[in-house]
Formats: sequence, C-alpha cells, structure tokens
Amino acid sequence: MAAIIQVKDLVKKYGDFEAVKGISFEVKEGEIFGILGPNGAGKTTTLEIIETLRDKTSGKVIVDGIDLDKDPQAIKNIIGVQLQAAGYYPNLNLKQIIDLFSGLYNRDVDAMALLDTVNLRDKAKNKFKDLSGGQKQRFSIATTLINEPKIIFLDEPTTGLDPQARRNLWELILQLRTNGATVVLTTHYMDEAEVLCDRVAIVDSGTIIAINTPDELIDNLIATGFKRDKEVKAANLEDVFLNMTGKEWREG
Ligand code: ATP
Repeated sequence: MAAIIQVKDLVKKYGDFEAVKGISFEVKEGEIFGILGPNGAGKTTTLEIIETLRDKTSGKVIVDGIDLDKDPQAIKNIIGVQLQAAGYYPNLNLKQIIDLFSGLYNRDVDAMALLDTVNLRDKAKNKFKDLSGGQKQRFSIATTLINEPKIIFLDEPTTGLDPQARRNLWELILQLRTNGATVVLTTHYMDEAEVLCDRVAIVDSGTIIAINTPDELIDNLIATGFKRDKEVKAANLEDVFLNMTGKEWREG
C-alpha cells in the first residue's frame, strides 16, 4: 500500500527543549495508525505539525503527495481534525454547528444523519456547552467527518468515555476505515490500540522506539521469554461490567 503520510527527520524544539528528535515514519493509505507513548513523549506535537496547526523546527512532511512547506492549505482541505472541546460556537446548537461547518467547507451534509453516527440525534437542539464530557467527545469526532476527509486525526478519542461509548466509538472508527479513510490516532489505552490499529509507533522522549503491527510487537516480546505475572482469565472486569450494564449507548 502507498504511503499517504511521509514524515522524515522531523524535529520540534520549544526553546532549548527538543520535544521531537528527528523522527521518520510513514502511514499507509487506508490503515489505522496509532501513535503510542507516555505523557510528554511528543505525540500531540507530532500530530499537530502534520495537521498544519503547529510549526516544525526542521524535517519534511508530505501528506497525500502535498509538501507541508509548499501548500499547507491543500493539506487542510483533505484532513479531518478532532478539535479539543474549546472553540465551538457557544450559542449554536449541534445541528446549527454542523450546518455552519458544512457551509464553510461547501459540502452538503445531512446533519441529523451525522449526529446519528455518534448517537446524538436527540441532542441536535442542545448547545455544545450543555453536553456531557462523553457527548462533547463524540460530537467533536462527528465534526471531523464534515468535509469527507481522506485522513482523520483523532487525539485520544475515547479518553473519559464509559465502556459502552468506547466500544461504540471503536465501531465508528473501524467503519471510517471501511469507508476508505486513513485514520491516525493517539491513545493511552493499549487494548484500544490492539483492537483498532493496523500498525503502531511507540514514541518515547521524542524518539520512535518501535513501529510494527500490534501482533508482531507482542510476538517479539513473547519470543524474548517474557511471561505475564498473572495468568490471563477468559474474561476481565470490563467484560463483567458490559455484561451487566449492556452494550448500548448509555446517554443520548
Ligand atoms: P500527552 O500524552 O501527555 O498528551 P504528548 O506525547 O502528546 O503527551 P506533547 O504534548 O507533544 O506530548 O509534548 C511533548 C513535550 O513538549 C512535553 O515535554 C511538553 O511539555 C512540551 N511542550 C508541548 N507544547 C509545548 C509548548 N507550547 N511550549 C513548550 N513546551 C511544550
């Protein structure tokens, strides 16, 4: 598969501090690519540079054949970025916000159908500020889809969600790939990365220390003789929770 994102020798300095230390990687068209790493590893910095939202210090970024240094606007046009909670018009309701964005992107979007995909149809007339944390998160994912992007960037998309909402968002993210999009996400949940990601890059202190499929990374570890302390049971506490409370969305 062809590379839709190419990052070469990317460096980002904040003053004297080097947050990203010359990393190189490629994301293939149509894959779900995960960027994993501890707090402060440089994940958000790297994403936001590719998203054209932050300046890099040096290095090369090519997105769908477009050189970031030459035409950042062209990159903006083909990507969807999950914005963090701030920045939505406080006095508009969800449908109005989607309609406004659709107009800005010059797209004909069925706002109610889009709200359906994140189970927020019932909240169409609510203002963003009146949503719960999980609902805000889901709405922000819906807004990334308005311009029918080729590449979707999700920064910790399921942080703070309940297990039902998390599983339902996994379905949605997998569906995005089925529909032909490439997805780049960051997450601190390794179970999430294992379920969703075709490949992951593990970043630590601004350097990529591994890049592979989750399966191969696990097999490589096992091959070193690694063994878990605790035997893995056929179910875990999350299975218990979901079994008792059901799989459907919990709040509209
Ligand atoms: P987290 O998992 O906590 O979201 P991250 O991997 O996304 O972390 P970044 O937000 O990219 O990490 O930050 C990488 C490093 O760069 C951190 O040490 C952070 O303190 C530093 N940093 C980020 N933004 C700035 C900034 N605007 N000015 C100075 N330092 C910054």
